[in-house]
Amino acid sequence: MNYLKQHWQQIVISLAILLTLGIAVFQTVRQDRLTTPIANINVRTGPNINYQTKAILKKGQAVYIVQKKDNWYKVRYNDHQFGWVASWLINQSGKIQTATNLSEATIVLDPGHGGSDSGALSIDQKHDEKTYTLQLAKKVRNQLTARGAHVIMTRTGDQDVSLGARPELATDNHADAFISFHYDSSPSNNLGSGFTTYYYHANTSLKLARTINQHLVGLPIENKGVEVGNFEVIRDNLRPALLLEMGYINTDKDFKAIESPAYQNKVAKDVTNGLSAYFETK
Ligand SMILES: [Zn+2]
Repeated sequence: MNYLKQHWQQIVISLAILLTLGIAVFQTVRQDRLTTPIANINVRTGPNINYQTKAILKKGQAVYIVQKKDNWYKVRYNDHQFGWVASWLINQSGKIQTATNLSEATIVLDPGHGGSDSGALSIDQKHDEKTYTLQLAKKVRNQLTARGAHVIMTRTGDQDVSLGARPELATDNHADAFISFHYDSSPSNNLGSGFTTYYYHANTSLKLARTINQHLVGLPIENKGVEVGNFEVIRDNLRPALLLEMGYINTDKDFKAIESPAYQNKVAKDVTNGLSAYFETK
């Protein structure tokens, strides 16, 4: 009894230390343990593809999630190392075997118009721009997701989406690229032809515009190059952002391409390859 009286302070302190240690051990064990499902996942110094790579994980490596931010996980790996990985690569099942820089990217695809806003019309007035922008964006989405990228669409059906909400989706998701799909229209039928790659902010988007444009090759209509375009969805956009006008909907020659799945697939493939080349330098 004397011992307790004399040493109660030390005993309380010791119990407090033991309790703290116990909680720490419990939290470490409780951390979500995951196993890398694919090879080559980059560990970066921050939650984005723009941060440096500090390690590359093998397939089947154990990682413990310690923090979540902007769809990225801060993980503990190799016992005591910490770094950031794209959450969709750690969680993915079977789409790809090996991660690439493209698969680490978050890409917002924006099919122009939708809902009550049909966009421009074909010569016979029966075909809406909104239908073909969605068809094309979905093909691009499929190619990108097949290569492991994280794709977000501003719309997946025929619904109204405000012009302001579209770039906001890119900002909110810290997108590494935003691409808006449209078709041109000229004042009178069969006047214009070709496709144009528009950007607005040179510092964030010119490199992306040039890279994508270089990869749009062998298409049946003319490449009219890279231009500055004052469009709200790329002007009010904080992320690398483009607007592609992929042909004139009221020109017979262009419309033949626009409605053809072969053209849509080729554009989707070229855009995907362009994005892959762009992210390869990250
Ligand atoms: Zn349009």
